[in-house]
Amino acid sequence: MTSWLTKLAPKLLSTDAKKNIPAGVWIKCPECGETLYSKDLDKNLKVCLLCNYHFRLTAEERIEQLFDENSFVEMDRGLLPIDPLKFVDSKKYKDRIKQTMAKTKLNESITSGVGKIKEREVAAAIFNFRYMGGSMGSVAGEKITRVIELALKRRIPLIIVSASGGARMQEGAFSLMQMAKTSAALSRLAQEGIPYISLMTDPTTGGVSASFAMLGDINMAEPGALIGFAGARVIQQTIKQNLPQGFQRSEFLKEHGQLDLILERKDLRDKLTELFGMLLPT
Ligand SMILES: [Zn+2]
Repeated sequence: MTSWLTKLAPKLLSTDAKKNIPAGVWIKCPECGETLYSKDLDKNLKVCLLCNYHFRLTAEERIEQLFDENSFVEMDRGLLPIDPLKFVDSKKYKDRIKQTMAKTKLNESITSGVGKIKEREVAAAIFNFRYMGGSMGSVAGEKITRVIELALKRRIPLIIVSASGGARMQEGAFSLMQMAKTSAALSRLAQEGIPYISLMTDPTTGGVSASFAMLGDINMAEPGALIGFAGARVIQQTIKQNLPQGFQRSEFLKEHGQLDLILERKDLRDKLTELFGMLLPT
């Protein structure tokens, strides 16, 4: 009796224990391979406790980390993408939008609005990379432009947090036009001396890096973020030379004068408060 029970007990226990562990409790760090307890990772702002790897954040997580509690008010949530070119690649763009909306519960790749950072009102646009790779279509461009105009009207500083593969190819030239439109709106903000800080996160590439992401009064990035215009492979094939180590990463860009700052997530609120204080017209 004792013998079969002893043999069976660990099996029963382990099955029970497995049942009690919900999915997603342990997360493997893609950089160092360490297995991390998700609650510890969340407490550490989704930064690896061992190697400082900055995990990608959703816009919701970014808002929660960046702004004072419950202070963020979203705007223009009802702007929905359309399919002006009736574009079809491996599937119809129209269907792709529908599926992405259902999967992400988001209407577009940008969440915009106004929140408070240490009690100072700040206008913000934040990319959702999981919405079609954070690509910038007409709606994303319009939402960014509107939040810039709001910052201008209310004379409050602006931050744009980028995580994007660039222009949305399914909208063709309509997507490319957003680069000019957002840049023009930012120049009006600059003329009025309202500060704009660009925070580039992993990845910030293509038409986003080639427009507003690089137009900040301060251009900053998270450590280790991929930032660039064309992909490394395309560049290597074009120039027929090997690319240097760390090419297109935050640290490389800062060393070559393309970034002002690399900032760890834990320092972001303090640094933004300091910079906005310095940059805002008195
Ligand atoms: Zn790690």
